[in-house]
Amino acid sequence: MACLFCKIASGEIPAEIIYQDDEMTAFRDIDPQAPTHILIIPSQHIETLNALDPSHAELIGNMTLAAARIAASEGIQQQGYRLVMNCNQDGGQTVFHLHMHLLGGRQMLWPPG
Ligand code: 5GP
Ligand code: ZN
Repeated sequence: MACLFCKIASGEIPAEIIYQDDEMTAFRDIDPQAPTHILIIPSQHIETLNALDPSHAELIGNMTLAAARIAASEGIQQQGYRLVMNCNQDGGQTVFHLHMHLLGGRQMLWPPG
């Protein structure tokens, strides 16, 4: 298993884990771009958004619900936050195991860089 995020999900590589269940792991980004920067990943190895099919709908829904719950537990729910999924080169994806970025604790800019 060569994938970095698979290794984080299995505990082989340490990370500051915020939440974990059978289908996902949430942990702090090693290079945070905001005061709160948490990655939410599926337990199963899915490379990009392009690999999703309808069988993943519940998983992605549950990851989104988890993100909103984590935003509340981080205390950024009311002030606001951003949920981002980068896909391939133009999206700026660097780790090819699907992940959501939960970013908050500062004013986000639009358009994004
Ligand atoms: P992407 O650019 O693929 O959307 O996001 C990958 C994210 O993974 C980046 O924000 C990067 O800082 C984070 N990251 C890369 N390697 C590690 C690691 O070993 N541990 C943790 N916690 N985050 C990582
Ligand atoms: Zn993986």
